[in-house]
Amino acid sequence: MKKRILITGAAGFLGSHLCDRFIKEGYHVIGMDNLITGSLSNIEHLFKLEQFEFYHHDVSKFVFVSGKLDYILHFASPASPIDYLKIPIQTLKVGSLGTHNLLGLARAKKARMLIASTSEVYGDPNVHPQNEDYWGNVNPIGPRGVYDEAKRFQEAITMAYHTYHQLETRIIRIFNTYGPRMRLDDGRALPAFMGQALRGQDITVFGDGSQTRSFCYVDDLVEGIYRLLLSDYVNPVNIGNPDEITIKEFAEEIIALTGTNQKIIYHPLPTDDPKQRRPDITRAQQILGWSPKVSRKEGLKTTFDYFKNLPEFK
Ligand code: UDP
Repeated sequence: MKKRILITGAAGFLGSHLCDRFIKEGYHVIGMDNLITGSLSNIEHLFKLEQFEFYHHDVSKFVFVSGKLDYILHFASPASPIDYLKIPIQTLKVGSLGTHNLLGLARAKKARMLIASTSEVYGDPNVHPQNEDYWGNVNPIGPRGVYDEAKRFQEAITMAYHTYHQLETRIIRIFNTYGPRMRLDDGRALPAFMGQALRGQDITVFGDGSQTRSFCYVDDLVEGIYRLLLSDYVNPVNIGNPDEITIKEFAEEIIALTGTNQKIIYHPLPTDDPKQRRPDITRAQQILGWSPKVSRKEGLKTTFDYFKNLPEFK
């Protein structure tokens, strides 16, 4: 009998790559998405498979799935700063009410549940690089608070279900990740810069570009999630690529890769934009034997090839 896994946010960037991976591993995959930020085009290649089914549903409302479930991956959530500015209440609800509903489902089905948490739980960090024992520096009422606090609540309720109900749970803290199927208009640095290069627009760096991020290629992230799900480790695990770069240097790399003639223009830094971010991945290395394999050079090239072949640029 095939293992059955529910993946929420299945039509999104990470969710769709997870659907592909678990299909490849021989699982029966049930994808769920309300399609407010996800797109069916990310999973349309799966619709012909018997191994895959899709529920168009908002997990902030009661979730019903028939039959047995072995695993639940909760990846539904707006995940880019401009999305959670546009849809703040949904962002709060999917991380809180949605997680509660899915924990209830996991309990009823005796399934193991893995939640997608985030480096945003560290806020604008005072500890660098960030390890899992750091409690973070989050502004609860700032523009990012709706996402950060929903994810912090999500970790808290997941841990409570683990300790109080002995539910099998796993928590991954995801750092900036990129790759094919990101939304070009999601406002994040990489799709923004590549979209601007392809349209012949100037590259918009926010602030003076000295803030840092560390970008992980999606296939590496998916491997980390796969290993964590099948491990017996309950505390949070950072998954990300520690190769840190300033946003200005990142923009310059994308300008060089795309061959655009455009220049960098500077816009104001958004409120509460973290000044630095780099994962300490010692725990993932020790417990999961995991480290990222794809270099930024290689990953950026694959991602640019994807964007430049989208219908709007053909
Ligand atoms: N950023 C930028 N120009 C853009 C979009 C983003 O300079 O057009 C900056 C943003 O202010 C942040 C960094 O790039 O410092 C990464 O932003 P992103 O939205 O990709 O992710 P975050 O890590 O902030 O959630």
